[in-house]
Amino acid sequence: MPGEFDFISWIRTQIPSAAGVVVGPGDDCAVLAPSTRDQVVTTDTLMDGVDFKLRDCGPVAAGRKAMLVNLSDIAAMAGRPTSALVSLCLPKSWEIAVGVFEGIRQIAHDFQVAIIGGDTNSWDGPLVISITMIGEVTGRGAVLRSGARPGDWLFVTGPLGGSITGRHLNPVPRIREAIDLHDRYSLTAMIDLSDGLARDLSHIARESRCGVELITEQIPIHRDATTIPQALSDGEDFELVFAVAPEDGVRITRDRPDCFRIGQCVESGLWLIDKGQRKPLIPAGWQHTLDHPGG
Ligand SMILES: [Mg+2]
Repeated sequence: MPGEFDFISWIRTQIPSAAGVVVGPGDDCAVLAPSTRDQVVTTDTLMDGVDFKLRDCGPVAAGRKAMLVNLSDIAAMAGRPTSALVSLCLPKSWEIAVGVFEGIRQIAHDFQVAIIGGDTNSWDGPLVISITMIGEVTGRGAVLRSGARPGDWLFVTGPLGGSITGRHLNPVPRIREAIDLHDRYSLTAMIDLSDGLARDLSHIARESRCGVELITEQIPIHRDATTIPQALSDGEDFELVFAVAPEDGVRITRDRPDCFRIGQCVESGLWLIDKGQRKPLIPAGWQHTLDHPGG
């Protein structure tokens, strides 16, 4: 019966060499050449039954999604992805192992990400995929969540809601769009939409110490969804929300049909302008729950 080391040996035959990677998989650590740019690092863990259903989607789609969600976080900083570490907790199945790696390899190839190492475990539990991704920012630096100011306009890069019908498995990380926007405009804050528009915007508001105000009629609803609450809180859209000063906002509205203005930053609070009426915006959306010993 093939084991972990057979799998790792097989993986090593599948991985091309890459610029900047001095030593790839196979030693205790990878060795990376230094970069002149700031680097961004992110990690995301996906579990069968929570982030995908292996029985329905298969191992290739699970592996692809694990890469794509990490790429979306790199996009949210306006970074360019360079390399990734992959840790797997595998059910004892060679087919699943190979399928997950195939999905990871496909996306690594599409986005020119080097797989530089990782860790493989097998157990009687469900499939768990944890990926750590490294990228580098452009000469303009990283875009943070914390730079938005009252008066800034808020935009989203695509329609929202209903990703659970299938889109969540195959999101399009907005790497190219983010780098292009960052190059042309002064983005004051940005985040990718994983947990739902309302919740993710509350992160921008908190980190930027301002408020946000969304305009219901301006929020683009995806054809997979039907209602505004879905667009506000479904999550896993993996579009980007960003803030810019009004001067840039005017230019984006004029020049970028791929970006939708959804509202603006205000002094404080989370608000929804619905048919001219201002209502509190509830930051509903996905979160993992934790049992607390206090009940
Ligand atoms: Mg994120």
